[in-house]
Amino acid sequence: MQILAKCPRCDAGLPVSASEAPAAITCGGCGRDIPLAVSEALRTDLAVDRCPVCDGGDFYIRKDFDPKVGLAVVVVGALISAGFYWFGRDLIAYSILGGAALIDLVVYGRLKDLTVCYRCHSEFRGAYERRAPAFDLHTADVLELEYERRTSRR
Ligand SMILES: [Zn+2]
Ligand SMILES: [Zn+2]
Repeated sequence: MQILAKCPRCDAGLPVSASEAPAAITCGGCGRDIPLAVSEALRTDLAVDRCPVCDGGDFYIRKDFDPKVGLAVVVVGALISAGFYWFGRDLIAYSILGGAALIDLVVYGRLKDLTVCYRCHSEFRGAYERRAPAFDLHTADVLELEYERRTSRR
């Protein structure tokens, strides 16, 4: 399992391999030492049960989506269809635009899920079984506030 540990102070993302995770990592952004308590389930890529950064047990699932990729597809499609439109080929222009949107959908549908920690936003990628529920704004508000009080970042 791959963990993207989020620094509690500066929110930098620090990639760690769960199977070889050290007891602590140093943040490349602010130099803070972050202790990692990697559970057995995390180490063996079985499940995300406990967050190694904040010790929280509340997670949600989201698509591992890079918005830049989706946007690039739409922009390229729009440029090509604009070119056709210029030459009066409306129908082709519209179908290319529609095609780009379709590619976007397909790309989105094939994305894998990743698990995110509600409190510190650390991310977990691997072959483990997804058990966490979808994102809930109320839960996020409560848990993030609790975490921020604890780390006194604000
Ligand atoms: Zn940091
Ligand atoms: Zn966490």
